[in-house]
Amino acid sequence: MTGPATRLGLLHGDGIGPEIVPATVLVVEAAVAAAGCAPIEWIELPTGWRGLEEADSTLPEHTHRTLAELPGWITGPHDSSAYPQPWRGRLSPHGALRQRFELYANLRPVRVLPGVKPVVEGIDVAFARENTEGFYSDRAVVAGTGEVMPTADVALNIGVFTRRRATQIAHAACRLARQRRGRVTVVHKAHVLALTMGLYLDVAREVAATYPDVVLDEVHVDAATVHLVRDPGRFDVLLTENMHGDILSDLAGELAGALGMSPSLNAGDDKAMAQAAHGSAPDIAGRGVANPIGLMLSAELLLRWLDDNGHGEGLAAAADLLRGGVEERLAAGRGTPDLRGPDTTAGFAEAVAARITSWSDSGAAPGPPTTSPSPAPRAPRG
Ligand code: NAD
Repeated sequence: MTGPATRLGLLHGDGIGPEIVPATVLVVEAAVAAAGCAPIEWIELPTGWRGLEEADSTLPEHTHRTLAELPGWITGPHDSSAYPQPWRGRLSPHGALRQRFELYANLRPVRVLPGVKPVVEGIDVAFARENTEGFYSDRAVVAGTGEVMPTADVALNIGVFTRRRATQIAHAACRLARQRRGRVTVVHKAHVLALTMGLYLDVAREVAATYPDVVLDEVHVDAATVHLVRDPGRFDVLLTENMHGDILSDLAGELAGALGMSPSLNAGDDKAMAQAAHGSAPDIAGRGVANPIGLMLSAELLLRWLDDNGHGEGLAAAADLLRGGVEERLAAGRGTPDLRGPDTTAGFAEAVAARITSWSDSGAAPGPPTTSPSPAPRAPRG
């Protein structure tokens, strides 16, 4: 397959970012070449600490302007809580990108991968998390942080729920459920937060009623934590507001094996950002032991989104190869130390890339079959 290169942004981020981002690039390039797709042209851009050093901003204007011209990018995590003032406590670079490019749907599939011993068996769910408003106050205002302290002893937080975003994320959840097992569970607390969460719940019911092939059920957010641990099989797609989805998806990721393996895609109508669910892991940064699988599988989601949205022919096949390569390595008992495996970050990536390349050389089918009864996770289309 020939054609123009697919241009994607590359943000290394902080902490373990400069280790897991190159590891991910290596396997993406191997998968794209093995699938016979046009190559990726990476456009490297500074953010985080590198942005501060080069342009005195954690999200330099040049980075933002360049991303505006691209369909998608891969980003490492940001160590936002360690930035100097005035950057600390402000909207993080990722938060700013989600808002500026209206990346309202955060897709977080969570399932048990081959060879990985989970805390709880049988998790195979996907979170459709609203990504730009809700109870994260810094996402809820165009200036400031959405938090105020009228006195030293009183602190207030602004939560924002709009019909527009509630509608968009409910549609995204229902479309996602159609590609999976046809069930959406809306997670809420509307019996206490009657207006904010009430609006969000009413909209979810209205939207789901327009999808006769999708079953909607409802669960309180506190009960959702219990059911995720005791009986995760009752869930397929979990529709959540921003903060609830962040917390529940981290819990689910750890229950499935390790947070470092949880992928995430931030998708809007015309752009998508691949970003693992975990943070910058400063406690292990620079040691070459970070698990790159969360970001690799986020890149898999991005490749599918690009293919679905007409940004690169054959990229879904490249996504299949990438996933097959990661799963085969895990099934063989390899992986980074958080999985009790012997691999370094770079060693894992090199082995997966070499295996993917060997499939294209031999014409053999990729990797072991997926352990997931659901089809490969697809990002919600705008
Ligand atoms: P964290 O996710 O960075 O780390 C939590 C624990 O999980 C740590 O023990 C860490 O070593 C481990 N871990 C995380 N990712 C791993 C990986 N890929 N491989 C192996 N182990 C991994 O959470 P934190 O410590 O609360 O936050 C650290 C920094 O990251 C903070 O500045 C926080 O604001 C930021 N953060 C950024 C993002 C993001 O950019 N997406 C998300 C969450 C937190």
